[in-house]
Amino acid sequence: MDIISDPLLFQQQASTWRRLGETTALVPTMGAFHEGHLSLMRYAKTQARKVMVSLFVNPSQFGPSEDLSAYPRDLDRDVHLAQEAGVDLLFNPRPEAMYALDHATWVEVPSLARDLCGRTRPVHFRGVATVVVKLLNLAQPTLAVFGEKDWQQLAIIKRLARDLFIPTHIVGRPIVRDEDGLALSSRNAYLTPEERAMAPALSQGLRQAKAWVREGLTRSKDLLDRLALFYASDLALARVDYLRLVDPENLTPVEEIRQPALLAAAVYLGRARLIDNILIPV
Ligand code: AMP
Repeated sequence: MDIISDPLLFQQQASTWRRLGETTALVPTMGAFHEGHLSLMRYAKTQARKVMVSLFVNPSQFGPSEDLSAYPRDLDRDVHLAQEAGVDLLFNPRPEAMYALDHATWVEVPSLARDLCGRTRPVHFRGVATVVVKLLNLAQPTLAVFGEKDWQQLAIIKRLARDLFIPTHIVGRPIVRDEDGLALSSRNAYLTPEERAMAPALSQGLRQAKAWVREGLTRSKDLLDRLALFYASDLALARVDYLRLVDPENLTPVEEIRQPALLAAAVYLGRARLIDNILIPV
């Protein structure tokens, strides 16, 4: 596995592979790999001859009071895991190489970024969209793979790729969970044992809500009220940031479930902010 930190060398290597006719895949990450990341890499390897993984804790997607400096980092472990997953190239740039001192260009998708996580993280998706466009321009891959855990992020990236005619196929992959249902996340490392023991209630609530819909509870307000009660008792240590039922593509609110909808939740639990979602079929 090659490890490259210089963006132009990364661009050259990706372009060499393209010229040789290889299919290529990019998996953007911030490192601290877990099975969720590794599942994306392994999937990428089934779809493309050459798999590139970027490992970059992107400063511009963290707000001033967020956890940029505390974000878990373990490059040696990540290198080893990526190699085992069959990755061909790990791109690990320094922030100065990705953002020149006079960097002035931002990519924004306001209609999709305003609600849900965008409410409490106002600069987050601008940072994500901008760095993903940089990475796609460097790698120009056949496909780029993202997790459905960050559903809003995936919706934004699909939209910007379409709107900007970026010739990369954007692929979403299912959420990988621990045995007790908690969606894997690098930020789960922030949880105390007591918080970790309670955290699976987040996904239990979503599955429970899906069952309520099946039993006929199809009005959004009723569903979300009932879910809020569930969390007040079973996730009592957490503070709910949002519970929303939205259109899976446009992320606009759904009042009544008549077509598939996305139920998305974010909670603060101790030092961690946890997100999860579930698709609700009709
Ligand atoms: P991150 O390193 O948190 O920026 O995540 C990098 C990629 O891995 C993103 O596309 C995430 O959506 C994806 N990802 C993170 N956690 C999971 C998970 N539990 N299951 C599937 N994909 C995930």
